[in-house]
Amino acid sequence: MIGKLVLGNENDAQTAIAAAKTAFKTFSKTTVEERGQMLQRLHDTIMAREEELTKAAVEEYGSPLKPSRGRTAFSAQTCLFAKESLKNFSFEKMQGTTKIVLEPLGVIGAITPWNANYTHICNKIAPAIATGCTIVVKPSELSGYQTQLLMECVAEAKLPSGVVNIVNGTGLVVGAELVRHPDIAKISFTGSTPVGKLICKDASVTLKRLALELGGKNPNIILDDADFSKAIPMAISIGFSNTGQACHAGTRLLVPESRLDEAIELLKQAVASTKIGNPMDEDSVLGPVVSQKQYETVQRYIQAGIDEGAELIAGGLGHPPGLEEGYYAKPTVFARVTNDMKIAREEIFGPVLSVISYKTEEEAIAIANDTIFGLAAYVSSSNMDRARRVASQIIAGRVLINKALQDDPYAPFGGFKQSGLGRDSGIYGLEEHVEPKAILGYEVH
Ligand code: NAD
Repeated sequence: MIGKLVLGNENDAQTAIAAAKTAFKTFSKTTVEERGQMLQRLHDTIMAREEELTKAAVEEYGSPLKPSRGRTAFSAQTCLFAKESLKNFSFEKMQGTTKIVLEPLGVIGAITPWNANYTHICNKIAPAIATGCTIVVKPSELSGYQTQLLMECVAEAKLPSGVVNIVNGTGLVVGAELVRHPDIAKISFTGSTPVGKLICKDASVTLKRLALELGGKNPNIILDDADFSKAIPMAISIGFSNTGQACHAGTRLLVPESRLDEAIELLKQAVASTKIGNPMDEDSVLGPVVSQKQYETVQRYIQAGIDEGAELIAGGLGHPPGLEEGYYAKPTVFARVTNDMKIAREEIFGPVLSVISYKTEEEAIAIANDTIFGLAAYVSSSNMDRARRVASQIIAGRVLINKALQDDPYAPFGGFKQSGLGRDSGIYGLEEHVEPKAILGYEVH
């Protein structure tokens, strides 16, 4: 614990919603240029406090320094991406004699998770500002320090009063109030699938628009012609991204049976050379998990893997040697996992990788798609035609070929199946903040 947070209640949420509703009346009439300037200012104020925000993320949830730094810069850039996306976005057009206007939705209620906290908040603030919506954010109660710093950046960016509001509080009190409230036009939620389902149900009372960015159990298919010296270390960074606490982590590694032994050897080497340690150290790749509760969850899943007969090839129960203080879990890899095991079906949100072997390309695709989730997927191959063929058959919102990094900020991000509803990023994110209105007979011919 690094600090204490005062939690808001329903009244605080209502006050913020009322402020956002009032601000919407004038903010929705601002020009694209004015909103572009605000996004630029918000970017600049975040970058001016880059190091401070980065250190807050390291201290608050143990994400190592290097990836945290990248995430701070990316958070600031989301403002510029939204500004840039406005160039290709038309708020009105004529269709014959009909005028079609894309009107800003109104007050957005955003509910965000603790992992990559301010990145998620920025991802919700930026498209709202770009489209002329106002917003009330309920961040995770586990990341109040980062949120506080981000709000100071918002204040420094001198956005009109009431446009961006934050109310700390629990999901059941402040989160639920946003979901229920009739003046919230849309809930933009990022978090777990079970909570997403609850929100879906509660939002149906007022038929709110919904964007749900939920969990994943993402497949990483290594085809038999892949260069294993690259694909296996990459599989470790994909699987253990943010110490495995990432919705896009590739936690099911699909390896051809013909090269399984080779893969196991390389995986052992890759884990051994992945440094886990103090997240403030420049060379730490993995840090602790976020909380005691999360540590225990990870331990339970490791035990489940052992109980179900998977072969433990790296890591296991307990803390890594020398890291007994804090919530450090061992980076763990199970081989000979079958896709019906708990560790292959459920999102663990910790550094646990399940290796599943397959005989044919068709079988690999079938295993990849045999999940309730459909967020991200990865394919490694030295034959681009094959990689493209496999990528096109995977049911997921995003497929990366021979890549570990999500490096196209304008590509839509979101999930198929129980990974969610709607898309963030680029023009797709803007589209989700407007409502089309058709005015027929607008022109007389
Ligand atoms: P969580 O679902 O427990 O909580 C997310 C947010 O929802 C928190 O702010 C919480 O207070 C709030 N909440 C909880 N119950 C609520 C309710 N009944 N009504 C309204 N709000 C409620 O998730 P978490 O543990 O903070 O984050 C981890 C999860 O987020 C993982 O499942 C991960 O996959 C997912 N995630 C998804 C994405 C994505 O883009 N798809 C990105 C990051 C994280």
